[in-house]
Amino acid sequence: AKSEGRNLYRFFEPAMDAIVQARRALEVDLDAALPRQEFDLDFQPIMNIASGEIIGAEALMRWHSPARGTVAPDAFIPVAEETGLIVPLGEWALRKACAAAASWPPGLRIAVNVSAVQLKSGGFARSVISALAFSGVPAGQLELEITETVLMDESKAVLKTLRQLRDLGIRIALDDFGTGYSSLAYLRRFPVDKIKIDRSFIRDMGNRDTAAIVRTIIGLGNELGIVVTAEGVETEVQLDMLHDNGCEEAQGYLIGVPSKAADIQRLLKARALH
Ligand code: C2E
Ligand code: CA
Ligand code: CA
Ligand code: CA
Repeated sequence: AKSEGRNLYRFFEPAMDAIVQARRALEVDLDAALPRQEFDLDFQPIMNIASGEIIGAEALMRWHSPARGTVAPDAFIPVAEETGLIVPLGEWALRKACAAAASWPPGLRIAVNVSAVQLKSGGFARSVISALAFSGVPAGQLELEITETVLMDESKAVLKTLRQLRDLGIRIALDDFGTGYSSLAYLRRFPVDKIKIDRSFIRDMGNRDTAAIVRTIIGLGNELGIVVTAEGVETEVQLDMLHDNGCEEAQGYLIGVPSKAADIQRLLKARALH
């Protein structure tokens, strides 16, 4: 058995080296990408279901790498979180998103994704306040989307930061709701203004049990006075079901795909509530 193990090791070692090297190369490219201005933000509209009005948009990060092409955030954000790059990168996104929102019609919401690493790094609240001040966007128009991993360690510092931001009028949204281990517990312990039902539930709403879960989340949000947004809405059938069940907001390809800042600005000017 021992020699077998050694053979296996010899067999896998070159493959492991290749993985480690590819990962290292990604880290190096990623580090250089911020000063080279290879990152960009797309914006996806969010709709009030009852009125049909677009009420704002979510900023979604893009990496246009000359060597790699366009890299999806799911492929580089976890790496940026591990290297710590997410702190300056997230701050860049916040500033860029607020700057874009400054030229939207007044009252529209800008939603920005925030990593747990950012929230736990010192000075997060300060960088948010600075992004708002610099852009002139009122705090009441900014929404920060966090996932449960942010809340998992229940650190007092994170709770304090969230309270501080909320006291300024910034809204806190719980992203990918329903996919974590204890979504419900977090609602009791943390100041949350909005929950975003994960797109996997919306996709499977044709299933009776999944539909029941979605209805229950919406009911829960309504009871607690928390706004509920459905993510990944792709069909009229899904939108109708959400409407019938009292879901307030929807986001997804049916309403609009993530688009360049200039395009979203045009859309918002044409379709926003005045
Ligand atoms: P998310 O925050 O849950 O964002 C929604 C994702 O669903 C986006 O993927 C969006 O393009 C996609 N989507 C929207 N509508 C539909 C639909 O109808 N159908 C389907 N199939 N997909 C839809 P994207 O842009 O690839 O972003 C992936 C994730 O990367 C985000 O998930 C978020 O967790 C993370 N991310 C993106 N930008 C940032 C950022 O600036 N900072 C941080 N920390 N994370 C970010
Ligand atoms: Ca999000
Ligand atoms: Ca989400
Ligand atoms: Ca997600």
